[in-house]
Amino acid sequence: MIVLVHGGAGRYRPEIEERREVILRELSSAAVVGVETLRTGNALDAVVEAITYMESCGEFNAGKGAVLNIRGELELDAGLMWGPRMEIGAVGGLKGYWNAIKLARFILEETDHILVTGEGANIIAEKIGLEKASPSKRRIQFFPKIRERTLKGKYWWRKNLEIYNLLGYSTVGAVALDKEGNLAAGASTGGIWLKLPGRLGDTPIPGAGFYADNVCAASATGLGEAIMRALLTFRACRNIALGLNIKEAAREAIKVLTLISGPNTGGIILLDSRGNYSFAANTEILLRAIAKEGEKPKAAIKTSEKLVAIK
Ligand code: ASP
Repeated sequence: MIVLVHGGAGRYRPEIEERREVILRELSSAAVVGVETLRTGNALDAVVEAITYMESCGEFNAGKGAVLNIRGELELDAGLMWGPRMEIGAVGGLKGYWNAIKLARFILEETDHILVTGEGANIIAEKIGLEKASPSKRRIQFFPKIRERTLKGKYWWRKNLEIYNLLGYSTVGAVALDKEGNLAAGASTGGIWLKLPGRLGDTPIPGAGFYADNVCAASATGLGEAIMRALLTFRACRNIALGLNIKEAAREAIKVLTLISGPNTGGIILLDSRGNYSFAANTEILLRAIAKEGEKPKAAIKTSEKLVAIK
């Protein structure tokens, strides 16, 4: 029984060092919540619980900590996949609620659809009684300075890469393996800072931000436009089906991501049905943690760092 989580990728920034302890603790707590869920639940339950934890803790770019679009609004994306039956639920551009992953789960289990956006998402959110979002504390962070500068640019909707790079990506994701040998994967995000309203990234797109079958499960973070072009999570899982070991599978997928879109574009966590796992990124940081039944959770921030046990 294993759960891996990520809390984003990107450049190493001073704020990260300042928040180091909190980040490591929240990442490992999320992985532990996942593993505890596995005692009675399956891999899908574990992924949903680990991600719900990270959406609710406010430390990451998801749920209560989600970044805002150019209008200063919350628009959340999430996706979830159950490996044994390759069932999928995903939501795009959810407004007014915190926990997009719960909505993705409802879509997976209770509807005939895979990806729901806009009004349909809100109908479901109301039906299942999702917690309503209050004004985001993110509002005060980078607004209005960067926003104003962005809007002043003539082509602000296409010249934002620098800003994304600067602010980083801290989408959350999880993969889990349960005692029956079943895999699940998921991810949840507010997208990227100052995105156009309606922009969807990789996170609600199966095969891009998340993927699971009966051999492998993967979750990604980084620039959605880059991850979609590489079909990153599907690519990494397919590499395993083609015979690569799990480390090579993750590395090769990231290599393709870099070839298509350049460095500093993303990272991935990968877990197979035998409990092998790996992490890879072309960014300086990949916030990540792992928890196994009966062992202390381990977490790390820099991509080059080894995982360390967290008390
Ligand atoms: N992948 C997310 C997106 O592009 C951003 C992130 O990973 O933080 O929407």
